[in-house]
Amino acid sequence: MNAPDVIVVGAGIVGAACAWRLTQRGLRVTLVDDGRPGATAAGMGHLVCMDDNPAELALTAWSLALWRDILPRLPDNCAWRDCGTLWLAQQPDELEEAERKRQRLADVQVASEPLCASALTAREPTLGAGLAGGLWVPGDGIVYAPNVARWFIEQAGERLTHITGEVIALEEPWLQLRDGRRLQAPAILLACASGANKLLAEQWLRIKKGQLAITDRYPARLSHQLVELGYAVSAHAPDGKSVAFNLQPRPTGQLLIGSSREYDNPDSRPDPVLLAAMLHRACDFLPWLADLNLIRCWSGFRSASPDGQPLLGPHPHRPGVWLALGHEGLGVTTAPGTAWLLADQITDNKPAIDAAPWLASRLNRQEVNA
Ligand SMILES: Cc1cc2nc3c(=O)[nH]c(=O)nc-3n(C[C@H](O)[C@H](O)[C@H](O)COP(=O)(O)OP(=O)(O)OC[C@H]3O[C@@H](n4cnc5c(N)ncnc54)[C@H](O)[C@@H]3O)c2cc1C
Repeated sequence: MNAPDVIVVGAGIVGAACAWRLTQRGLRVTLVDDGRPGATAAGMGHLVCMDDNPAELALTAWSLALWRDILPRLPDNCAWRDCGTLWLAQQPDELEEAERKRQRLADVQVASEPLCASALTAREPTLGAGLAGGLWVPGDGIVYAPNVARWFIEQAGERLTHITGEVIALEEPWLQLRDGRRLQAPAILLACASGANKLLAEQWLRIKKGQLAITDRYPARLSHQLVELGYAVSAHAPDGKSVAFNLQPRPTGQLLIGSSREYDNPDSRPDPVLLAAMLHRACDFLPWLADLNLIRCWSGFRSASPDGQPLLGPHPHRPGVWLALGHEGLGVTTAPGTAWLLADQITDNKPAIDAAPWLASRLNRQEVNA
């Protein structure tokens, strides 16, 4: 076997998308993964334009544009649906935030439509009474991320070698596997989420546990991904536990209900108290949920950088080491943008968007400025 041009560590949706894109650019890639289920297997698969800061907006909007080329080619088992997102305002003052969101999305040519209370009910008639209105973002959608990751790997074809093994040390250009194998390449891309903490001196990544619950199958009552407008406040809480209403109607007739956030808890068992708070929150928006059967709940681990934004690009002082880490709650959405950005950087091409906001070197500057 010829030596690869790039080794990608981690075959979640981020590593799989990067490996695929690198092979599209003509490179030979070895993708190595330890076979443990990561965040991709646990998440919601909501493709969503998020706008908490200009860089996040640029990356999510660009990724959604890239998704639009990919989605029609996906097989049925990737369960893509163009359901859009309905952002829900409980209080009238949240409509001001909805309007600011509409303007920010419009700045990057993402369409959305403000909805008064009656227009919201017309879009989703079974929503609970008393909501103030909302914002409809028709370009968002959903996928089943584990199957999309598998599809990326299949599409990569003969230029990709996929191996199972745990990387235990990085001494570029070498990687040491637990089973004794050693792999070598001029470029090594770490897409192994918080697993990177064991391979790098920097402990850049914190885990944020998240819980989800799914119902039995029922006749369809909802047709959009529903998210409360206060979701970003929960997503960016600096510490502690939080819940926010986020619900996805699955093509199977099941309802996937989220979500919670909790820093630094590696215990994968569901937390019943937080789960109850999450389900109560969901019933605030959809009281009839209380009558449905839940068949499963589980937790997964988002991985977050110190400033909550992903680390994309070269390691600040280790030539040949590249990073695609810290996607927190947006790694499914931003996998294509990440893959295009990294492939451009590794092949020495100019990326379509400014790479500076994602460079890990920003973290040192933030420390100095703090
Ligand atoms: C509850 C929850 C809900 C979410 N909802 C959404 C959503 O709606 N939309 C969205 O866009 N995102 C969502 N996310 C976030 C999204 O799931 C993640 O950002 C994304 O899956 C990260 O992908 P990844 O490939 O970076 O990591 P992972 O999927 O974790 O993959 C990393 C892989 O690397 C492997 N690995 C680690 N260390 C090593 C090693 N040393 N050697 C070999 N292999 C290694 C791991 O086993 C794993 O297979 C959610 C996450 C959670 C937890």
